Amino acid sequence: CGIIGCVGRDDATLETLVHGLSKLEYRGYDSAGVAMANGGVDVVKTSGEIDDLRETLEGSALTGDVGIGHTRWSTHGPPTDANAHPHQDCTGDVAVVHNGIIENYQSLRDELVGAGHTFTSDTDTEVVPHLVEDALEAGVDPERAVRDAVSRLEGSYAVAVVIAGEETVYAARNDSPLVLGLGEGETFLASDVPAFRDFTDQVVYLADGEFAKLDAEGWTVTTLDGEPVEKDVDTIEWDP
Ligand code: GLU
Repeated sequence: CGIIGCVGRDDATLETLVHGLSKLEYRGYDSAGVAMANGGVDVVKTSGEIDDLRETLEGSALTGDVGIGHTRWSTHGPPTDANAHPHQDCTGDVAVVHNGIIENYQSLRDELVGAGHTFTSDTDTEVVPHLVEDALEAGVDPERAVRDAVSRLEGSYAVAVVIAGEETVYAARNDSPLVLGLGEGETFLASDVPAFRDFTDQVVYLADGEFAKLDAEGWTVTTLDGEPVEKDVDTIEWDP
């Protein structure tokens, strides 16, 4: 029920993500997880509370400056570890967090299973990493692969995606909230401002049909088709 992403500048990114998830707790959730892009993509997720995620993370060695995180409020599939986000493709090179409901997931899933994809969860979300995988395998570049995957979705979504070999977070929204946070040498995205308010008061609200790319260079917002969009930077007036 909440997503977060961060392109950071030091090893603090994982802690920043988990802190942000704890600030989104008010939205309600039954599971939580994170993915870090560090050459490959590593995912740690669990049903339960943020504290359960912290405990699960203790036994892992997640590193990297770039990552995404999720608190889940189940709509498709019970609150199990397997149904927790992030979800991955067959290769494990793509990880996706999603807030909302993908209305046409069943037909997409049937199509993907028919093409040989194996699913490991009951969620509507899992079609997204598999669609990205298909586009990558067709030789499309990573950004285009995410745009193509998202353009197949019907319903409500805020999605964030990381891909192995890319120090980038890609994101898009339709009917679910998504806001960017512009920090000093680090950039955030989240379902709501409290997730990163401890680190910045500079924000950019995305509108439906917009696509964001966050990397070490900063951030860009375009339409899903790639047309540039002029965005206002707002200053949050309230203290963290
Ligand atoms: N529909 C997705 C699921 O059931 C996302 C739910 C959410 O917004 O947390 O996993």
